[in-house]
Amino acid sequence: MEQVKTEMKHKYLSDYLASDAVVKCQKCGAEMAESKMAEQMFICPECKKYNRVPARVRIEMLCDKGTFEEFNADVVSNNPIGFPDYDDKIKSATKKSQENEGVICGKAKIGSNPCCIFVMESNFMMGSMGSVVGDKITAVFEYATAHSLPVIGYTVSGGARMQEGMISLMQMAKVSGAVKRHNDAKNFYLVCATDPTTGGVTASFAMLGDVIISEPGALVGFAGKRVIEQVTGEKLPDTFQSAEFQLKNGFLDAIVERSEHREYISTLLKMHRKV
Ligand SMILES: [Zn+2]
Repeated sequence: MEQVKTEMKHKYLSDYLASDAVVKCQKCGAEMAESKMAEQMFICPECKKYNRVPARVRIEMLCDKGTFEEFNADVVSNNPIGFPDYDDKIKSATKKSQENEGVICGKAKIGSNPCCIFVMESNFMMGSMGSVVGDKITAVFEYATAHSLPVIGYTVSGGARMQEGMISLMQMAKVSGAVKRHNDAKNFYLVCATDPTTGGVTASFAMLGDVIISEPGALVGFAGKRVIEQVTGEKLPDTFQSAEFQLKNGFLDAIVERSEHREYISTLLKMHRKV
């Protein structure tokens, strides 16, 4: 990893609301202006599918205006195992997302309650977890522990980043250790597992929250349905690994409508406030 100063024009909600680019619903394929999708909080007006929200927009939706302070914004990956084409992939992910990496971290206030927050970015290699993602999330937990602050985390991830090999898998243990120390110091951690939260992220910090919520219809699971069917020889239901299935089976505490997140999290932060 290295720190670089990059000239980057992040995209905010106002940019999406002003965009006449045509986008497609991730489920039904309906085409519409990006502005129309953004007006509906990225919920498809045709099929009601919760489309993915860019991380920086999610932070705007949740946090009190002007309170978000970003940590480690300029940290980028340096291809630790020399994986072919990884540098190009990073470049195109940076261009696509207008972000340096797959997670944005910092501190903020939600409903006047101070907290730390991390939000993963699906437009950056599908939020895959490499060393920078792991380092940034570890750092936000360490800051929160040192300052007795709760952590709010939004996950979206295809899992570990294969271009970093074993180093990406190590992030699972590293972040989990930081979550444990945060928890041992009696600090609150809420996770919202958004569509899709899978692989090594599900197998570590996405399932370690004191409260774990999700959104309607989100895919939350470890290995894919087909892989499990092939290994076990069992037929799995169509709803397998939907948020609704995981709620029924005890992996989630609640499914919260997107428009209610700010209020819901604000209430929980208030209940767990230390001072
Ligand atoms: Zn749709």
